Amino acid sequence: MKERVLILGAGYAGAVIANTLAREFRRKIAKDELEITVLDRNDMGVNQGGFTLLPFGLYTPEDLVRPRKESLSPRIQSRFGDQGEVTDIDLNRQQVTTKSGTKYSYDHLVIAMGARPDASGVQGLEDDLNTFYTSMDDALEVGELIRNFKGGRIVVSVSRMPIPCPGAPVKFSFLLESYLRDIRNIRDDVQLTLLWPMEPIGPPEFNKLVTGRLEEKGIEDIRQFQLGKVDAANKMVESTDGRQENYDLLITVPPHKPQQAVLDSGLTDEKGWIAADKTTLQYRGPVGDKDNVYVVGDNGPADIMKTGIGAHYQAQVVSHNLINTINGSNIKSKYKGETGCPIITDMASDAHAGRAYIATWSYNNPPQSFDTTQLGWYLYRMYYYLHWDMSIKALM
Ligand SMILES: Cc1cc2nc3c(=O)[nH]c(=O)nc-3n(C[C@H](O)[C@H](O)[C@H](O)COP(=O)(O)OP(=O)(O)OC[C@H]3O[C@@H](n4cnc5c(N)ncnc54)[C@H](O)[C@@H]3O)c2cc1C
Repeated sequence: MKERVLILGAGYAGAVIANTLAREFRRKIAKDELEITVLDRNDMGVNQGGFTLLPFGLYTPEDLVRPRKESLSPRIQSRFGDQGEVTDIDLNRQQVTTKSGTKYSYDHLVIAMGARPDASGVQGLEDDLNTFYTSMDDALEVGELIRNFKGGRIVVSVSRMPIPCPGAPVKFSFLLESYLRDIRNIRDDVQLTLLWPMEPIGPPEFNKLVTGRLEEKGIEDIRQFQLGKVDAANKMVESTDGRQENYDLLITVPPHKPQQAVLDSGLTDEKGWIAADKTTLQYRGPVGDKDNVYVVGDNGPADIMKTGIGAHYQAQVVSHNLINTINGSNIKSKYKGETGCPIITDMASDAHAGRAYIATWSYNNPPQSFDTTQLGWYLYRMYYYLHWDMSIKALM
């Protein structure tokens, strides 16, 4: 009988797994012994990592989108729109339902549906929501706001953790500082503040570097400021412990949560995300242990860092384990928490060289001491072009 692999979400993690399996099992697929199906509500892929750079004109929207058909192997059965939008995931019946009412059964399931922003999670935030985190249009709108800002206080607020790529708001703040200083030439007229919801910003060496640079660049750095309330009329934000800060322009990273279908299907744990073993990534949530269900990428456990780099490593582990299982082998790879955070401290301009570094670490290996470099800037800028033709196609 034909073996079925069903992948929910054709984003970073889902696409890498689907493409890896399609290449490995091309003969089985040709002989109709195996079927790989990918479901996604959207037929256009978007590289969210580029949202941070879009407001500064460092990418155009065309750089960040690709029709999914161009990045998924033709050996994969892909369903988009209502046919692909997942509405129910029944792990006991091994069945997934989509908006069109179609039901898909599986032998092996991968849940890779990402995270979604939820501005309603903070009182008043929807009344003054400027964010580069949610879509290209929103990021471009932030670009418009900073292009026209005349002076005053800009507050960049990260409402609470976890969010995808927790380093992105920090690099946004550094880019904004460079932009106001070197491109707009209004740095002296702007008080720039970062409100961060925890004490450290990342692991110790990462925290050390960004703390020093924030101070050096005169970016006010306020920690443990979980966003409790936005008072748009009075242009004021309040932390959950009652501290208040005023602003002229507020740029926020809203809280994030899993997709509605994941919540409605009862897959999440008390921390609000899909529970899985941190090394095998097999489902370990309220529905019971499911060895044939893998949880990958941003919809995964609250305490696995949500990054594209991490999603890529997780996708490789799950791909290996699916290949071994389908081939009847018991050999298992383990995810060791490999992740990374590309940090930019300076944007390239006539006045200054760009400087960046891609810090990487894993569960037991925190990042070593590092600094941002000019080479790092060029590598980081190149990365977005490698995304579609190398990363997503599972060629690296
Ligand atoms: C502003 C920003 C900057 C970032 N910068 C970086 C960075 O510099 N480096 C880095 O490593 N990471 C970065 N990230 C994080 C990175 O984008 C994510 O970690 C990565 O995309 C996670 O991959 P994923 O496959 O889990 O989710 P996604 O790539 O989000 O894919 C999820 C897929 O599921 C689909 N989907 C959702 N709901 C449904 C449904 N009901 N039915 C069917 N399909 C559905 C979506 O359409 C999407 O295609 C950034 C993220 C943001 C928002």
